[in-house]
Amino acid sequence: MKYLKKQKSLSEISDSLKRGTLKVSELTKEHLNRIEEIDEQIGAFLNVDKNGALAYADQLDKEIESGLEVGPLTGAQVSLKDAILLRGLPSTAGSKILRDYVASYDATVSERLKEQKVVFLGKNNMDEFAMGSSNENSAYKLVKNPHDIERIPGGSSGGSAAAVASGMVTFALGSDTGGSIRQPAAMCGVVGLKTTYGSVPRYGLMAMASSLDQIGPITTSVKDAALVFRAIAGHTDKDGTSYPNLGYSEDISILNEEKTKKLKIGVPKEYFGEGISDEIKESVNTVIDFYRKEGFEIKEVSLPSTKYALPVYYIVMPAEASTNLARYDGLRYGTRGGEEDVLVTYMRNRGEGFGPEVKRRIALGTFVLSAGYYDAYYLRAQKVRAVISQEFEKVFEDVDVLITPTTPTTAFKIGEKSGNPLEMYMSDILTIPANLAGIPAISIPVKGREDKLPIGFQIMGKHFREEDILSLGMYYER
Ligand code: GLN
Repeated sequence: MKYLKKQKSLSEISDSLKRGTLKVSELTKEHLNRIEEIDEQIGAFLNVDKNGALAYADQLDKEIESGLEVGPLTGAQVSLKDAILLRGLPSTAGSKILRDYVASYDATVSERLKEQKVVFLGKNNMDEFAMGSSNENSAYKLVKNPHDIERIPGGSSGGSAAAVASGMVTFALGSDTGGSIRQPAAMCGVVGLKTTYGSVPRYGLMAMASSLDQIGPITTSVKDAALVFRAIAGHTDKDGTSYPNLGYSEDISILNEEKTKKLKIGVPKEYFGEGISDEIKESVNTVIDFYRKEGFEIKEVSLPSTKYALPVYYIVMPAEASTNLARYDGLRYGTRGGEEDVLVTYMRNRGEGFGPEVKRRIALGTFVLSAGYYDAYYLRAQKVRAVISQEFEKVFEDVDVLITPTTPTTAFKIGEKSGNPLEMYMSDILTIPANLAGIPAISIPVKGREDKLPIGFQIMGKHFREEDILSLGMYYER
């Protein structure tokens, strides 16, 4: 367990800063030392901005001394998944094709975190272009699970989840297209929030599948997730899918027990079926029992089209990804080869720059969008996607939130599934539906597994009702 470390929560940091018992620079040094000490083994970072972090920490200490008001995120030690742009730092999205790319502007979320005065420590390793469930698709190196370094951390935001679990950062931001925040959070024993589609700006996030991608926090507690969410959510003109009127309340991170107890919990039976390990089912049932004993109203519900979510995802996602990735050709973005015929250049740059999983999805996406197959695959998948969303809407007339497991298994061994894409894709059967429907969902560690591999339970909620899933999570946490 030497790779696990309990660390200060956001409120512990801001309280100590306010009281003057902590210096940001001390905290930053502590975290940089931690990275130096263990990251060669864990592999969570692609890039550490040691000098930048130390210089900014010093500056912050001076600002605090001269009266800067300490906010809820001030001084937090933060890393970003490498697909999220932070001006001046390399951003490779885990791909060789972007090995020389340095971000020339900030993502909106990076800008918002800067306003909150966090300290950025660097960029996290990830599956290439966010395609994967184990981080084995990074073009650079593996990420090891801090609970057992023979195991994968989950993916694609595996570097971010491992960095939080091992105490290298206070929190990280990841992106979730089919589960990439929640699944690694569950496997590393931390909290991961996929936000409502449209709630957090995607500007400056390298797109995988634009109608599914969302940025969200990976933290050590639900309360911290709420604080980070509050800071990064909200409209921007720079993202055409950013929702105009969010109206999230200021106190979203404060648990109101009375209000929370009124939430009706649904348990969809399809999420406890075949393919989900007994250990996971039993574990999540203890969570449901907890809420029952606390007097919550709990009801079994049904989402019959759940079984179509994975096939629908593997049509819609590659279709969008193949289109989004067309820009990486070495002419507009990406490393360029020699001076020959443009088609040869194009094929060589993409041939060498992309890894096998990315190529597989480009081929699949191009196929389902091609004339003659569009109607049979893409259009039909979109129709089934609509049915899946409608089923959620219907169930949410009856209950406020849904509780399910996050993953079908605990973290598996490195190499165990890497030769079998279909088996790997099954890792996300429980997380993909929320992306297809655009609803918010959070993964929270089940308690009492200190010496075992972590298990996460998932709470899904109605569109823009992050408050419900966060408060139910905080209720469990307290
Ligand atoms: N593991 C899923 C995939 O490979 C989800 C990825 C994601 O959410 N970015 O597509």
